[in-house]
Amino acid sequence: MSDRGGTITREGERYPPPPHELAYLPLDPPPPGGARQLADGLLWLRIPLPMELNHINVWLLEDRDGWLLVDTGMAEEVCREAWLRLEQEVLGGRPLQRIFVTHDHPDHMGLAPWLADRHGAAVWMSEHAHRSSGEFLATSPEALAERIRGFLQMHGVEPTPGAAPARGDHRDWYGGWPALAHAPVDGDSLAVGNGQWRVVETGGHCRGHLCLYDAGRRLLVSGDQVLPGISPNVSVLSSAPDADPLREFLDSLARLADCHAQTLVLPSHGRPFRGLHRRLADLAGHHREQLDALLGFCTEPRTAFEVLPVLFRRVPRGFHRLLAVGEAVAHLNFLCGSGAMERRRDGGVARFVAVAPSGPSEGAPRAA
Ligand SMILES: [Zn+2]
Repeated sequence: MSDRGGTITREGERYPPPPHELAYLPLDPPPPGGARQLADGLLWLRIPLPMELNHINVWLLEDRDGWLLVDTGMAEEVCREAWLRLEQEVLGGRPLQRIFVTHDHPDHMGLAPWLADRHGAAVWMSEHAHRSSGEFLATSPEALAERIRGFLQMHGVEPTPGAAPARGDHRDWYGGWPALAHAPVDGDSLAVGNGQWRVVETGGHCRGHLCLYDAGRRLLVSGDQVLPGISPNVSVLSSAPDADPLREFLDSLARLADCHAQTLVLPSHGRPFRGLHRRLADLAGHHREQLDALLGFCTEPRTAFEVLPVLFRRVPRGFHRLLAVGEAVAHLNFLCGSGAMERRRDGGVARFVAVAPSGPSEGAPRAA
């Protein structure tokens, strides 16, 4: 078993045991409506979230006579209330001029339209993130439910009679679809106040996910790509069932190793920390263990649903089950892409089998 941890949150993120060798910044998180200064012109804010993953960190960068904000919180009352307090107590009468969205999950961009309206701010996000959030919002709830039902059935999940369908529909958390003012791409530089940031595009958790790295000050705004206490959800989605997001995720971790070893990582959840290279190795190692465990288990054809106990201590239900199946398929698709596994279709159900005979303890080809 390669399960490293307990609960999957609503966003699909898992809480493994506390990571070793990370040096957290010796600062308590900012109180509601407050801020912590991390560097000249760089403030750490926290927006509460009405869910198990109960907060998102957002970053406020002083920019001439206004601010650049990284990420927003979701379109929920508790998040709007936090912003009303922050406007009073932190912004000092200066407007948000730019909103930089790391990726298109609702806790990161849900309040972008509302804040953009209030402040006259320009929304920056990757073109992919903008397009995919627009496509999601344009899909009817019925069409989405139908697509998810088909995806789950293909992966061996039988619909439970009478049970509510797995909801993949969180459109209420998006306060609309913001107009895109600018779409940064990998390698762009962004001068903000005293900072000189480089845009680093990463993938796997989300296509078109943008990090920001200030090499001079050794600061990395990591979004959800690198989190200290949580392994970011890496899922195949029903909208792209043949994708290989785990490969993108692992490639992106390798690219982030170019950041300086002493980089202060500013993650979207949890606390800022140093120990980036250790964390990158831990995250990659966690997925490699899971890949090895799957190769050992799939000596005969298995559906993604059947492999859940190999990856997770408990087989989750409802929306969490959808995320868990998505994560299992991400690992299985990776192994198929590596040639270590084969996918067979049998009456509309996909089954995965290791190509070479292998056992759980030895003989399994290394997956990555
Ligand atoms: Zn996310």
